[in-house]
Amino acid sequence: MAYTLSGDDACQITQPSPIPNPYWVAFSSSAAKLIDLELGPNGLPVDPAWLEICAGNSLSTSTHQFTNPLSTVYSGHQFGVWAGQLGDGRAILLGDINSQELQLKGAGKTRYSRMGDGRAVLRSSIREFLCSEAMHSLGIPTTRALSVVGSEMPVRRESIETAAVCTRLASSFLRIGHFEHFASLQDVLRLKELGDLLIRDHYPKCQDTSYPYLELFKQICDRNAKLVAQWQAVGFCHGVLNSDNISAIGLTMDYGPFGFMDQFQIDHICNHSDQGGRYAYHRQPQIMHWNMVCLASAFIPLLGQTHDTNDAQTLLREALEEFAVSYAKAWQSLFRQKLGLTTAQDGDIHLIERLLQAMHESRVDFTHLFRQLGQVRQEQKVQTIALRDHFMDRELIDQWLSDYINRLKSENSSDKERQTAMNLVNPKFVLRNHLAQVAIDKAKQHDFSEIQTLLKILANPYDEQVEYDAYAMPPPLDIERVEVSCSS
Ligand code: AMP
Ligand code: MG
Ligand code: MG
Repeated sequence: MAYTLSGDDACQITQPSPIPNPYWVAFSSSAAKLIDLELGPNGLPVDPAWLEICAGNSLSTSTHQFTNPLSTVYSGHQFGVWAGQLGDGRAILLGDINSQELQLKGAGKTRYSRMGDGRAVLRSSIREFLCSEAMHSLGIPTTRALSVVGSEMPVRRESIETAAVCTRLASSFLRIGHFEHFASLQDVLRLKELGDLLIRDHYPKCQDTSYPYLELFKQICDRNAKLVAQWQAVGFCHGVLNSDNISAIGLTMDYGPFGFMDQFQIDHICNHSDQGGRYAYHRQPQIMHWNMVCLASAFIPLLGQTHDTNDAQTLLREALEEFAVSYAKAWQSLFRQKLGLTTAQDGDIHLIERLLQAMHESRVDFTHLFRQLGQVRQEQKVQTIALRDHFMDRELIDQWLSDYINRLKSENSSDKERQTAMNLVNPKFVLRNHLAQVAIDKAKQHDFSEIQTLLKILANPYDEQVEYDAYAMPPPLDIERVEVSCSS
């Protein structure tokens, strides 16, 4: 097992609690490849024992034995406030296959469950499953989802729902919160073990530097800076960027009340429980930085091994400054690509920001607009460009389009090549909330076909797939807005 900390106050052997009469709700054959699972023609594991494994009802198949299922302890800051110990309240690590850790989410109580029931409900498990796989196909680092297994077992949330278990895969599920936990206990031994484990398995180059832990900190910041830039570039809002939901290896993790923006609003809040908008779209980069500040405090004792505290703080503060630089570089590069620009020129950032401002004012659909931008032809009169119709202020968008075309001409852009390149970075399909909701509503009636349809479409988000055009459209204006909250 990759996660090996000494002592039973760091992790606990935890048996999953069975669920009655489990059935497959969703299964990802793409994720199954990571662990070499043999699948039948129906796309499900040939060995029926895997249903029992993924339900939390058994620990062995004909080929695998999971002898040491674990829950690990972590703490964290929730909505900016230190919350103490938080998890793993409902996640159990089974073991690893091909360097992928298998984790059951919702498989019952652990030592760290506090007041919780250790369970997850069907709707949130389907959302996590679909989004994990969709993010992966978008090319954004994420934990993966192998399956969702359902049961009629009742689970109480605002109303009575049914239980589900999501099997997740990742090369590590370590979070910023793991470091914060041991730092809060001033447990330098465990902090070192965590740091050494990460360096050994995920950041081996740190080993070759004078101060491996300082370099580790820089690398974690860098990965998360780039990650959040990727979120911004596809209009993804995570919803709960608490420090316990931030990966130590730069993966998107813990999908809850996330949302891909339909109508662009710079300060869009996707989580109904986030009244103050702490995790709004435009604040995600700053909040990720804030989480890296939490990590920096947890690293002070680690750097204290080689430096006095003042020097350690200074070094970490300097390292934190790199976050903004790394983020800005990644963001600018991604948005230049979204506009189909192959060179960097002064004024590009202003051009991008003017477009986003105009989109915000007219609440233009984020995904749809960027995809349509690829269709702009340089010889077109701006008044004939279809996408201008999405904007209320036509004069403003016409001016922008005219400046954009001039900018394209300045680098001798070829329309066809540009569109091809833009289609590789501007997805046609994202997991819009209303699409996920249809799949969830059907699944509640035991019809799982829509989950498989979405899984298939979202596996190739940059392809035209014209037969699925309806799935690329913004939600119809007359449907009720799907509200998602922390309840899961
Ligand atoms: P979240 O804000 O969803 O990341 O939840 C914070 C922590 O609460 C997680 O780390 C979980 O370990 C724990 N938790 C959430 N839901 C439950 C539950 N139903 N039972 C036990 N623990 C839970
Ligand atoms: Mg969480
Ligand atoms: Mg959650």
